[in-house]
Amino acid sequence: MKPQMLDTLRNLLAPVIIGESVPRLVRWGKAAPRSLIRRLQADAFRGVVRYAAKHQRFFARKLEERGIDPARVQEPEDLGDVFTTPEDLQRLPAEDFLCRAPQAVYETTGTSAVPKRVYFNYGELEAAGRYEAAALWENGVRPGDRVVCTFDPGYWLSSWVTFLGCKGMKLFCSAVGKPTPWDFYPRLAVYRYNVIIADPTWLVSLTEIAEREGTVPMKLMVAAGDRMTDVYRSYVQKVWQAPVVLGYGSTEAGGGLGMECRRREGYHLDEFNFFIEIVDPDDEGYGELVMTTLSRRTQPFIRYRMRDIARFNNEPCPCGAPLRRISRIKGRRDEMVVMGAGNLHPEIFDRVLHDVVGISEGWQVAVRQEGLRDILEFRLVLNNGTKPGWVEEAVRRNLEAHYPDLWANQACGMYKLAFSFLPPGALEHRRKPKRLVDERQS
Ligand SMILES: [Zn+2]
Repeated sequence: MKPQMLDTLRNLLAPVIIGESVPRLVRWGKAAPRSLIRRLQADAFRGVVRYAAKHQRFFARKLEERGIDPARVQEPEDLGDVFTTPEDLQRLPAEDFLCRAPQAVYETTGTSAVPKRVYFNYGELEAAGRYEAAALWENGVRPGDRVVCTFDPGYWLSSWVTFLGCKGMKLFCSAVGKPTPWDFYPRLAVYRYNVIIADPTWLVSLTEIAEREGTVPMKLMVAAGDRMTDVYRSYVQKVWQAPVVLGYGSTEAGGGLGMECRRREGYHLDEFNFFIEIVDPDDEGYGELVMTTLSRRTQPFIRYRMRDIARFNNEPCPCGAPLRRISRIKGRRDEMVVMGAGNLHPEIFDRVLHDVVGISEGWQVAVRQEGLRDILEFRLVLNNGTKPGWVEEAVRRNLEAHYPDLWANQACGMYKLAFSFLPPGALEHRRKPKRLVDERQS
């Protein structure tokens, strides 16, 4: 395809043919051949690189330091080791990243205390809403459905983007902040919600109430964040008799980067708005996700290191969508701990602890050192009446069953297991408490 035709596609197709229509956007997204998606992406990548070289101080400086001419950049590899990191965002003033006057700002604190600030204009937020709406449509949401979204608001952006997406589809929508599940439960029937968009822990708590008190007809539940283990997902799905699909996104992405389809086997990426790379992959293809925003112009990100570990799934999805998938998030790079026994990810302990009865949601695993030996310490909060001995036994059993290599290294003395039991609330001082910490002296 000639460059002029790509231009025609971009200039005509998007605003004129698709317009604001979510169903048309979905049809186009599903019909677009992969070769065309790749061409559009490559073209948009070059476009945003040239734009940021001209308007973004941070990126211009990086190019200059390395003597890279933006006009010659064709693909991410041409940028060598030029990346944008979360630390850059925390350390440098907003002006270094802003390319034009913003109209909105959101923050994310992640696992550290200094917020990352991301600026947008209204058009960008509405566009993010439209693509989220497309993902909801593809998962069966239609006008007439009633959506409730209970993401934490404040300086967090998810609930606003969901609200704008619902507005675009003319859906009944309550984006109500995060009420307690008990407070919210009676309103389910009053307002006849049949689509719930929430974080996994909240959804599980609501489900526990509904299991006792009764459910209402539910079409779909969307949980964002990767803390929903398969066990929780099956529990929630069973109680409501409705599917739970997961979404993956971040404030830096301006909302969703990808969402599962009804097959629920990995996130389909929004390849129209993001170019995703996986850098430093291991033997199995798992590496750090790196995102370039293709459409935003207020504060675009060129090769932003997301610190999340995942891998591509290049198998075509039986749902027919041409959009590439990534696996579930294996963990955060800054939460990965390299130990003699192997590379540890929080996901390992999610799996070891998920069906251990009598422990609460808040837990942490620490790698410590005693003399020359590494200690793998489980810090757990027990529910009333739980005997520590049972819990220890169950954890050891799961570790042996699910991670025989890790278990074998322990059995041969490469590290030692330890358990400590903490009072309720001891680990819940932040929005995203660290699941896995490395406390060894470097
Ligand atoms: Zn699919």
